Formats: sequence, C-alpha cells, structure tokens
Amino acid sequence: MRLSTHGDTLDLLRRWGLPVELHWRRCAGVGELLAFCQEWAERRRTLEFETDGVVIKVDRLSDRRALGATSKCPRWAVAFKFPAEQKTTLLKKIEVNVGRTGAVTPFAVLEPVTIAGSTVSMATLHNADDIARKNIREGDWVVVEKAGDVIPRVVAPVLSRRPAGAEPWQMPDVCPRCGAALHREEGEAVWRCENTSCPARLQRGLEHFASRSAMNIEGLGDSLIAQLIAQKLVTDSADLYALSADALAGLTSTSTRGDGRLIERRFGEKNAVKVVAEIERSRSNELWRLMYGLGIRHIGEHSAQVLAQAFPSVDALRDASVEQLQDTQEVGPVLAASVRSWFDEPRNLTLVERLRRAGVRMERSAEEQTALRSGGPLQGRTYVLTGTLASMSRDDATAAIERLGGKVAGSVSRKTAGVVVGAEAGSKADKARELGVPLLDEAAFRALIAELDRA
Ligand SMILES: [Zn+2]
Repeated sequence: MRLSTHGDTLDLLRRWGLPVELHWRRCAGVGELLAFCQEWAERRRTLEFETDGVVIKVDRLSDRRALGATSKCPRWAVAFKFPAEQKTTLLKKIEVNVGRTGAVTPFAVLEPVTIAGSTVSMATLHNADDIARKNIREGDWVVVEKAGDVIPRVVAPVLSRRPAGAEPWQMPDVCPRCGAALHREEGEAVWRCENTSCPARLQRGLEHFASRSAMNIEGLGDSLIAQLIAQKLVTDSADLYALSADALAGLTSTSTRGDGRLIERRFGEKNAVKVVAEIERSRSNELWRLMYGLGIRHIGEHSAQVLAQAFPSVDALRDASVEQLQDTQEVGPVLAASVRSWFDEPRNLTLVERLRRAGVRMERSAEEQTALRSGGPLQGRTYVLTGTLASMSRDDATAAIERLGGKVAGSVSRKTAGVVVGAEAGSKADKARELGVPLLDEAAFRALIAELDRA
C-alpha cells in the first residue's frame, strides 16, 4: 500500500486501532489555516489536555520531499503558538526564594486568578534589575501571563491603578533564611547568599540531589527534606545514607491540600522503610546521576551524561584540568571553569569523600561501561592489524579497538578506517597505500587509543 498524504496516513493508523489525535483537519489555503488556528485558540479550553499551539504540515508527501529541510527543521511544517493568556490581578507582595547555588530570586505573591484554566497565585519576576526596569511595586495591579502556558510571569504594572505611596522594591540586604549578607558579582544580575551552610541552600541542594533526573530517590520529597534539616538529621547529601527507618518513621511531614490548608502527617513505618530502601538503591546509580546530583553549577542532566562518558569516575573529573575539560566535546569554557572551581573547594572534596565512605558508587556501572562500548568513539570503524607491535600483543590491540566500539578485520578494503602497521608488515600495508587507507604506526596507534580512552 502506498500512501500519498499525511492525512491518509493518520486515517490508516486510526483504522488499525492506534491512538491518533482526532482534531486535525485538512485545510486548503492560508485563509482556512488561519481560521482553524483562531478557532482553536478558544476551543482548546474544551480539550481534556493542555495545548499551546497548532502544528501546520504540508499534506502531500511528495511535496514534503520536494521542500526538504534546513539544517534545523523541515520546510513543510511550522508551529503556530497561541497567544499567551493575560489577566490583571493584585500583586500583594514580592518575596524572594533562595536556590541551591545561593541565587536569591524574587517572585510575586498574587491575588489568585485563573489563567489558561489554572489558578495562579505566584509568578516569577526574574531579578531585581528586571523589577526596576518594569517598574513593578508591591500593591500594584499587574498584568500576568502564562507564556507557553507554563510558568506564569508578571508582564507589567497597570500604572493608572497604582496606589498612592507605593515605593520601588528593594532587594533585601540579607538572606531571608540564614541572615547572611547578600552579594552580587560585577556584571551579574543575580544576588547570592554565599553562606554554604544556609538551610535554604541545603534544602534546594538536597531536593536536587534526590530529584528524579539526579539520584532519583523516590519518596524523599521537599517536606521530608525540610523535616530532616529541621531535626538536624542531615547536613549534606552524604548524611542521607546514614538515615535509619526508625529515625524517619517518627518525623511528621506537612503538605498543602488543594484548598490551601496544611495537613500534618506522621511519616510512618511503611514509608520510612521504602525511602531507606530507595536511598540504599541510589548508592549504585549510574555515574552521571551522581555527577548531576552534586549540584555543580552549569552541569545539567545532559552535560552530566557527557561528562560521565568522558570521565570514568568522579575522581577523574576531580583531577581534570580546565584544558582537559574543555577538550571534551560539548563542554564549553563556562562549564569547564565551573567544574574546576567546584572541585577546588575543600568543602566539596570533603562531601565527595563522605559520599564515597557512605558507599555511593563513584565510577561507571557495568551497564554504563557496556553502553559506552557499544556506542564508543570507534563505532562503525574497522581496523586492520599487520606486522608485530613492540609494546602490545595483537590480542591487546584488538581488545583496545573493540573496547572503544571499533572492529578488527583481516583484510583491507576501501572502507577500512585505518591499518595499524607493526614491524615487518606485509602486503596489507601496501594494499592500504594503494587504496588511500590511512596507516598508523605503533606510536600513532597508541596515541589514538590513549586519547580516546581519556575522552
Ligand atoms: Zn542564606
């Protein structure tokens, strides 16, 4: 069966019983397209799921092929984003939040208002400069929008409704949690609490450590972490590994119900046993999870994976120079400097040692090692060995290539990536020269392996 349009494809999938989004329509001409987008800007509220736009695609598959793609996206599809929904409400107060790096960020406490189907009572305000530039003050009526229907933000104040006597907002001088003076570096917009034992920073740091995309410790949520800190049961992530189910069971956690009321609840034996088991399990997590969980500035989930592919252990990362870090693909100067300065901090080295003593895996797991090998830097490349290598046996050379994802073949072809030439090499070297296949002498081969092993 040959399908000639996208619409036919969707119909067929639906007939086969596969789940297909049913609200699509075939439109002829720009007028129909615009009408469709406008119609759904309102009708989307009636859907059972959230949506922020419409995807417009060329229907005929042959037209798609003719249009092709740029390096970034296809030329036959485009997204229409619905305009963000805006509402006006009262900005009751501006408060600040302390992040795990100590960054102090202001946010707006709003008179609750319904935007895009959900109740909004808080909105981001980015930073102090932004508040000053937009001239936002406590007590103002403000326009709030949900951009991309995700995080609400304050767009602007309604100056005509500003109450008499509203004063420009000032960033507090001290951290609201620990009272340490706030600092801001030259040229930076962000103010920071630099007290490394600040309970707010500790809280956010542990939330990050336990989060799904880091160490993935299920059940270790925000309120439990707050309890652990308040009861002085943890002062850093390594302390988590010494927690007993008994200690956890006696804690009370509070949570906020939908109507805003707080409920207090004893953590309980059953939950405690579960969380302790989860913490225990996290000891043998993949290396990248730990590298991410450490909370080094600028290391995101993806860069943690990149680093764990390049450095086989936390120790290797710790010992890497800025240059070595920067030599890693996808690692830029900011990330490299951030990693280096994190490990230069004695306090952080102590944390790493404490985690090690707590039995947390500090190197790649066997699974990671295997995955890395199957997708190694020499994947898809075939080498041929000829002659005798002085410093390694043929088996060792083969193992080194295979470890990096490459293959070793017996004969040279145009597709051979390289021929490793030892002493008294025979006709294979000649064949390689004839076909223009690169030759590697022993030193070049060893350098290649060493370099890829390091990477
Ligand atoms: Zn603080």
